[in-house]
Amino acid sequence: MAKVEINCINCGTESFLQRDALYHGLTKTGECLSCSACGHVYPNEDAVPFRHDTPQTAIFTNSDRPKNPQLFSQSEAKTLCRHCANYIVNPFTQFCALHKKEVQATDSCPQFNKRKENSDSKFNL
Ligand SMILES: [Zn+2]
Repeated sequence: MAKVEINCINCGTESFLQRDALYHGLTKTGECLSCSACGHVYPNEDAVPFRHDTPQTAIFTNSDRPKNPQLFSQSEAKTLCRHCANYIVNPFTQFCALHKKEVQATDSCPQFNKRKENSDSKFNL
């Protein structure tokens, strides 16, 4: 029988519950529950002062789980410079034709102008 930790109400120590099967002939008639330290007999399972009786309080909840990192929100990802009609890329730089300045593919701006799907861009990004 697996031993279970208890706080004995008789001897006051942290000991183990001893389970001894009671037999009447060859028939198991029950269990004798006693303190392994002092031998105090508990009448039934409900009377046993088990340790860790209180359920473990959950320290972390589902809200503490890390969210899947999402670098760009869906709408944001669609307005990136790389999808803009004014985005010009050549082997040396990425350039915004509207603002006349160098940009990154992952930049975005309020003047986003969606590039047509069948644009004749030399660089298909
Ligand atoms: Zn005891």
